[in-house]
Amino acid sequence: MQEARFYTKTVDGVQCQICPHHCRIKEGGRGICRSRECRNGKLYALSYGIPCALAIDPVEKKPLNRFMPGTYCLSLSCTGCNLSCRWCQNSDISQVAPEETEYTPLTPEEVVNLCLKHSLPSIAYTYTEPFTWWEYMYDIAVLAHNKSLKNILVSAGYVEKEPLQELLPYLDAANIDIKSLDDTLYRNYCGATLAPVLDNILAMKAAGIHVEITNLLIPGLNDTPTHITTLCRWLSDHNLQNIPLHFSRYFPRYRMKTPGPTPTQTLLQAREIALSHGIEHVFLGNV
Ligand code: SF4
Repeated sequence: MQEARFYTKTVDGVQCQICPHHCRIKEGGRGICRSRECRNGKLYALSYGIPCALAIDPVEKKPLNRFMPGTYCLSLSCTGCNLSCRWCQNSDISQVAPEETEYTPLTPEEVVNLCLKHSLPSIAYTYTEPFTWWEYMYDIAVLAHNKSLKNILVSAGYVEKEPLQELLPYLDAANIDIKSLDDTLYRNYCGATLAPVLDNILAMKAAGIHVEITNLLIPGLNDTPTHITTLCRWLSDHNLQNIPLHFSRYFPRYRMKTPGPTPTQTLLQAREIALSHGIEHVFLGNV
């Protein structure tokens, strides 16, 4: 059992400080992400060392199109997410507890050795929300850097400043999934808020991390020209036109059975809007 970092004690349990939810967890209870539990007055990271998904992916699949193109990475994931997007494309591992999936016990050293054995230049923390398994990601990332491997974060970016800042020296690249520039959408559909996501993107850029952004376009929800324009304006207002922007095609999943997949024309139109706002690298995904 791995004791968690970033928590405080309360009269009847603990309060996790990893993400803006700041879950107050009573003895025997778990946080919203299902992967952090209070036992005997301490908080534990339940999914430490038991990844539920392991694969070798082209780095473009993360997606990262401007970071070590043409290379492969070791993709690794544990269960847990601090968002609850109704359309989650990975709900079978993100919206479950560690004991509800199959997993392979692997120490951080074994993960790094696996990467070296397959001559992979990077490790991607991906598929679910890596900040909900911060301790495991951090321990691997430190060892990986010691072996000159790169660390890639694939995240929704909903994390508190302190755990992010502690990870940044070991991070090389990130793809952050922005749902929309609409805070109401974050609250109503994802159980989160927008502002920390944007602040964290700026913090990563300020730290010199290579950042790319993904925006899953869902028909009728976040795919209008106004939505696209608002996102592009935020990028240009912060001189971030050089951040590669990926518009991704939505397919019905998890709790969203309708609408159907995003029309290709919507994605093409989004690309045109982004280019017209000076975004330099615009890609379409899942098409
Ligand atoms: S990481 Fe999990 S337990 Fe911690 S505050 Fe966020 S949702 Fe709650």
